[in-house]
Amino acid sequence: MSTGTEIAPLVLIVSGPSGSGKSTLVQRILELPGTMPSISCTTRARRATEASGKCYDFVTEEEFDAMVARGEFLEYARVFGKYSYGTPRKWLEVSRKKGVDLVLEIDVQGAAQVKQQLPDSVAIFILPPSREELEHRLRDRGQDSSEEIARRLAQARDEIAQLGKYYDFCVMNEDVERAGREAQAIITALRCTSARRRARVEKLLASFGGKD
Ligand code: 5GP
Repeated sequence: MSTGTEIAPLVLIVSGPSGSGKSTLVQRILELPGTMPSISCTTRARRATEASGKCYDFVTEEEFDAMVARGEFLEYARVFGKYSYGTPRKWLEVSRKKGVDLVLEIDVQGAAQVKQQLPDSVAIFILPPSREELEHRLRDRGQDSSEEIARRLAQARDEIAQLGKYYDFCVMNEDVERAGREAQAIITALRCTSARRRARVEKLLASFGGKD
């Protein structure tokens, strides 16, 4: 489905600390017609909660390294110093062929690489309402040890402190409904810029009998 844009589709980066609720907000963005997700490759193991649905392409270290050697990634990074994650370039081609906006849920290292390669990409950072709330959400998930939670909180602090470097927008996820509306509104507004609407405006002008 076409978004009605006449230039290359948007590349939208969404990042945020674990526990910020970014996956839920990415789902909200993907509810907008004219969007598609990029499916990352990762060397980490599939979680029980990921049994169905296509969250990642799970690959071995060897497979990942071979993809790196063949230059197949738009960006890739080692996340939490443990596992490799990467965005295959092919999703960019698919999105351009289909004329739909591409949504990348990646970390800050990945965002920096994509911004460098594709300066027109747009990056959104998802913020938790407070440190206390983030810690509460991480504890509630029951997924990580206390040390791991402390590490994630420290990482969240560092990322928030330097988000101005790469991110164009911030969405504060205090209330998920509101945050979802804000995230969708960002994409809607980006689609309405006069630069993106230029070809349409020219067509409209032509229907008036051409420019003066
Ligand atoms: P998780 O293992 O919890 O799904 O993801 C861990 C972190 O890796 C998250 O911050 C997620 O956004 C990030 N991530 C997922 N896919 C990619 C990717 O393709 N590239 C990069 N750089 N980070 C990714």
